[in-house]
Amino acid sequence: MGKHDNHTLSKTTDTEVGEIIERELKRQKSQLILIASENFTSQEVIKTMGSVLTNKYAEGYPGFRYYAGCKYVDEIEELAINRANKLFNSNYCNVQPHSGVQANTAIFLAVLNCGDKILSMNLRDGGHLSHGHKQNLSGKYYEIHTYSVDPETELIDYENVRKLAKITKPKLIIAGASSYPRIIDFKKFREIADEVGAYLMADTAHIAGLIVSGLHPTSVGIADFTTATTHKTLRGPRGALIVADKKYSGLIDKSVFPGIQGGPFMHIIAAKAVCFKEAMKDSFKEYGRRIVENSKALCSYLKDEGFRIVSGGTDNHLFLIDLTNKNMTGFDAVGALTSVGIIINKNVIPYDKLAPTITSGIRIGTPAVTTQGMGIDEMHKIGELISLTLKNRKNKTKLKEISKKVKKLVKDFPVYTKC
Ligand code: PLP
Repeated sequence: MGKHDNHTLSKTTDTEVGEIIERELKRQKSQLILIASENFTSQEVIKTMGSVLTNKYAEGYPGFRYYAGCKYVDEIEELAINRANKLFNSNYCNVQPHSGVQANTAIFLAVLNCGDKILSMNLRDGGHLSHGHKQNLSGKYYEIHTYSVDPETELIDYENVRKLAKITKPKLIIAGASSYPRIIDFKKFREIADEVGAYLMADTAHIAGLIVSGLHPTSVGIADFTTATTHKTLRGPRGALIVADKKYSGLIDKSVFPGIQGGPFMHIIAAKAVCFKEAMKDSFKEYGRRIVENSKALCSYLKDEGFRIVSGGTDNHLFLIDLTNKNMTGFDAVGALTSVGIIINKNVIPYDKLAPTITSGIRIGTPAVTTQGMGIDEMHKIGELISLTLKNRKNKTKLKEISKKVKKLVKDFPVYTKC
């Protein structure tokens, strides 16, 4: 199955765990992964995550640790920071957040007090749970106001954001989303934030890999704070980082540790450093270009098949399909597609009337299949398979045939990272 058949360090002698990992590896190799937030990391990233660095406690920051024996982990963290600053063209960065939610929470803790106002994108329209969901800390501790996309164009309505900002006077505006298929104009958000004296945080969890490839305008130097996950389009280990101007360094560092985290995951920070180096390569820029090219190709194939695409298309790594006119929910679609080995997720769409557990839509993303080396021809094949599945979702014989075709397609693109 290709030169990276051993793409796992799962050969543990704990057979119970090892066998489950093997089965998961087999699943990843035999299904078509179209979840917009997932990717396949390189062997180097995986190896680094499995290193002895996991043994080390290192509360604090390079040169200021609460534990002895941190000489080498200091070097690792400094290397990760330097590489991140080079990659994002920034002068300060914190590489310790364990996840995107924690990076966002650290910013809230840094600049907000309980009860302060946040203006963020409505979850239904593409925002993230950590931007104000009532069960998330953000929704419990802060007063959340939300902006929506325009009901006609399904694009962010910047005039409406401005209007809401003037009415609500938030202390923090969040630009960034989990399921917005278009370019986000961070400069417009900056203007609005300045008009009302708010901080601006760009949550680039999804698009960080596109930003560093020059395929999406950067928020660095525009937003006060940029947060990003390292495991989505950036194709690194599961984790996050914060980029900001160095005038905020003390505030942010304190918020991450001891504010919301304890000891940093040094093995993950090392793997982030590996990821940042990979993302500086020209081949990564080319990878970013192909993610978007594939996303557009798959999106337009499905549009031609009669599926309604939210906002009419995509500028990035993902797009949303509204299934309302197909008499099908996102939940139904996920069931049918999973049965043939196509893995996507159900997703709310703007102004969705259905619950997030059911949804009127699905979200499809191309970072993982692009890592596998698939291109436009394969996107057309995938489009055909998705369309056939959804149109024949109650026909078991047809679904069986499609499932075979899915297996055949993925077999030609073994899971490994090309750059
Ligand atoms: N922010 C956005 C916009 C996201 O889409 C996500 C995850 O999907 C996150 C934050 C949270 O990242 P994590 O799952 O690493 O906490």
